[in-house]
Amino acid sequence: MNYKDIQLAAENLIMEYLKKCGGQFEPPIPVEAIADVYLGFTIDRIDLGSNVAGKLSLEEKIIQVNDSDIFERQNFTIAHELGHIRLHTKNEQLIVKLPFAHDNKTIMCRKTDRAKVEMEANHFASNLLMPKICILAEHAKVCDRKNEEKIKILAVKFKTSKAAMRYRLENLKLLVDENQLALFK
Ligand SMILES: [Zn+2]
Repeated sequence: MNYKDIQLAAENLIMEYLKKCGGQFEPPIPVEAIADVYLGFTIDRIDLGSNVAGKLSLEEKIIQVNDSDIFERQNFTIAHELGHIRLHTKNEQLIVKLPFAHDNKTIMCRKTDRAKVEMEANHFASNLLMPKICILAEHAKVCDRKNEEKIKILAVKFKTSKAAMRYRLENLKLLVDENQLALFK
């Protein structure tokens, strides 16, 4: 699956939600409401230990989120599970690649798993929480700030971790090389 299609899938989900439930296409994107109000998944916050970010039961329609993570990381986990739901569960060939737990009923997402389906779900989550069009609009308001300030302001606005925002801004080439800039001062 190419990354452009993943971006479109994430943006479509936001638009479907807004059409049904109302609201504006602006941050913060209500990922929890998209999961429960719109798609009918129960969000269950429990301690999943240090390695697991989330679990997804398609049968019972439950998304378990590790509550030992910070709130912003939990938000990313919900968005990541929505990625699996939208990208991977309608295609038999992709379902077998999902990281199922031993019981074979639950998808178990570990923080360090770099499998293709996991990276795709992360890319979906990034586009869901930080849609390109919203990032560009909000970035324009802070574009003269230093990288660290920008990341901090936008992370608060979009309710993401600073690490996720840094990665997203790098990805969209919105961070400047400040060492390089210093040379010209
Ligand atoms: Zn996953």
